[in-house]
Formats: sequence, C-alpha cells, structure tokens
Amino acid sequence: MTSDQTAIDMNGSGGDRHVVDMLIIGAGPTGLYCAYYAGFRGLSVAMMDSLEEPGGQITAMYPAKMIFDVAGLPAIKGQDLVDNLVQAAAPFNPLYILGHRAETLVRSDDGTITVTSHKGAEVLAKVVIITGGIGTFTPRPTPVGKEYEGRGLRYFVPKPAELADQDTLIVGGGDSAVDWALALEPICRSVSLIHRRDEFRAHHATVQQMLASSVNVITSAEISGVDGDDAGIKAVEVTLKKTGEKQRLEVQQVVAALGFTAQLGPILTWGLKHNKRQIEVDTKMETNLPGVFAAGDITEYPGKVRIISVGFGEAATAVNNAASVVDPSLKLFPGHSSNPDQAPTAKKSAKATV
Ligand SMILES: Cc1cc2nc3c(=O)[nH]c(=O)nc-3n(C[C@H](O)[C@H](O)[C@H](O)COP(=O)(O)OP(=O)(O)OC[C@H]3O[C@@H](n4cnc5c(N)ncnc54)[C@H](O)[C@@H]3O)c2cc1C
Repeated sequence: MTSDQTAIDMNGSGGDRHVVDMLIIGAGPTGLYCAYYAGFRGLSVAMMDSLEEPGGQITAMYPAKMIFDVAGLPAIKGQDLVDNLVQAAAPFNPLYILGHRAETLVRSDDGTITVTSHKGAEVLAKVVIITGGIGTFTPRPTPVGKEYEGRGLRYFVPKPAELADQDTLIVGGGDSAVDWALALEPICRSVSLIHRRDEFRAHHATVQQMLASSVNVITSAEISGVDGDDAGIKAVEVTLKKTGEKQRLEVQQVVAALGFTAQLGPILTWGLKHNKRQIEVDTKMETNLPGVFAAGDITEYPGKVRIISVGFGEAATAVNNAASVVDPSLKLFPGHSSNPDQAPTAKKSAKATV
C-alpha cells in the first residue's frame, strides 16, 4: 500500500465502526476493480480483506508470475497488476480494512447491511459486493519458527525492496518459492532456498534459471530450528534428511512459500444461495439477498469462467447495478470514463449516505 492510501486498519485493533455506501468483501483483483468503479460512480467505499495485503490470489500465490491474458496488457507481472489496480482506485479514497475476515452479514428492515469482522470492526453499508474469490487463505506453516511471524518470518513478498541487503531463506519447492528466489536474488545480500524433496513442483524453466543463479539451493532438507531474539531472526538450523547432518544458515528473513489452504467459511452462513464453493448470482450479479452482489471467482452461473478479465467485467456489472440501489436516480449506464467530469483526476470526497 502507498502511504497516501486512506485510513488503513492494517492490524485490526477492532471495535471500529464505518458507514459507507458500498462495502466490498475481498481485495483481490475483482474487489480492487470494484473499488475503482464505485469511486467512479461517486460512491463511498470500504474494502475488507482477511489478508494484510490487497491482491488476493495474485499477491498470495503468484506475484512474480507474468500474466498474458488481461485485455490491453500484452504482459504484466502479477504484483504490478495489483499495484496498478490499487493506484487506479486511490483517487477515490477507498477505506481498506485489512487483516479482517468478514464474519457476519445482517440486513436491517431499512435495507442497511451490517458486516462485522472477526476482530470486531463493523461496517454499515447500503450495498455489499462479495468478491471473496476462493475464500480466506491460511498459509501453510513452517515446521518451526511460527513465533517469528512479522519479525522475520513472512508468507508474502509484495514489496521485495523491503528485503534489500538481507540474507533471506525461501522455504518451498513450488512456483511461488522459485519465483521469489529469482525475484529476490538481485535485491538481497544472499538468497538460499530449502526444499524437502529433490524434485521441484515449479516450472522446469524457472528451476533451471534458479539453479544457474547465485541462489544457494538446498534440497531434501527441512528447517529444524530458528535462532533469534525479540528483534528477529538471526539464523536458521537446517537438517539434511538423507544424512541427518545439521547446517546453520545466517539469515534474517525467512519466506515460507509452502502454499495456502482456502475456504469460504463464514460467507456460507449468511443465507446466500450457494453450492460448496460459489455463490449464485443473476445477470445483474445480484445474489438472492437484496442489496448483496457478488463478482469474480466466487460467483456461479452456467458457463462461468474463472479468470481475472471475467472478474473485471463482472465487477463493472455488479457496481453499476448496485449504484442504482444506493441511489435510484443514478442511471445503470455509467457514462464513459473519458468524459472530463468523470475522469479521476481530482480526489473525490467519499461521502457516506447511509
Ligand atoms: C497459480 C495461479 C495462476 C493464475 N494465473 C492466472 C492468469 O494468468 N490469468 C488469469 O486471468 N487468471 C489467473 N489465475 C486466476 C486468478 O488469479 C483468479 O481468477 C483471480 O485472482 C480471481 O480474483 P478475485 O478477486 O475474484 O478473487 P481472489 O483473487 O481469490 O481474491 C479474493 C479475496 O477475498 C478475500 N476474502 C475471502 N473471504 C473473505 C472474508 N470472509 N472476509 C474478508 N476477505 C475475504 C481473500 O482473502 C482474497 O484476498 C491464476 C490463479 C492461480 C492460483
């Protein structure tokens, strides 16, 4: 996130109460595009995500991978697409409520929808758009060292520059692990990668690239200890599985790239029509609950395709239909963004109307 982003509750002290026109649940690519579009329609917006960073699956699983199938962008790195989406929404000052999982959704008789997070933050909105993708992600933990989370142990690297001049250990053998090793190699003082097998799950070509680089690759090995203090990690003990030999790696940063588990969890208890993994929507992207819309990977209808560009289209449909619920005098068709009075050049003050 950039420093000029509005009111970001990163750590979730809880107890906050916000009143907005639209709440977006899920700050993946679809949710971020909803935030832009809602701002463009003049709505005040809050966006809640259980992760500490926006970007959804892209930031969590493939920030360094190139994406080739977003219309108008011949090739773009995952994290660059997320950064661009955040930047596009920024002029409209969306309120990011990160590190909060939306837990309950209740609709009052007057139509106001109240969503409460697991940390007690409460958002009152006229409409809600659920862009929860494949659900909330829980990172798979390293065998040891969980107590160093936030003090050297991390699961995402949205800003590789933060690890400049650090000795970094990546844990894992999949695409994310290898991509991060390659992305961090020119930035960190040293990069090591430890994988518990001899074979990598990552793409052959990127593995070869890593093996030809300065990355210190240790296979058939596991982390068996972490040495550090309150300030952070000082070293990691690694055990070679075949011989039982132990090695000490002097590193200050550990990136656990062991994958994530995802589940829709609380969303399925809100009275929405759903199957095991998705929410049913109509052609307006509205769910069976009045005022509650959905877009992106989380939606289901015959012929659904789960890719970023489809999520973007659904976001525009959902927001424009939701806008006329917030204010029935608003037309469904938004006008064109190139009209001078609609271009996001000036900061619009997000005015709550609930
Ligand atoms: C390895 C990989 C590569 C891919 N490559 C491509 C590609 O090249 N091109 C392409 O078009 N697509 C690709 N995809 C698919 C693409 O990433 C998804 O279609 C896209 O991320 C869907 O976006 P979304 O915003 O709908 O959901 P997500 O990206 O899943 O974001 C949903 C967000 O909602 C949050 N959330 C969920 N439940 C809650 C809750 N209760 N409270 C708060 N927050 C919640 C989650 O934390 C998450 O941040 C790829 C996917 C993977 C896994």
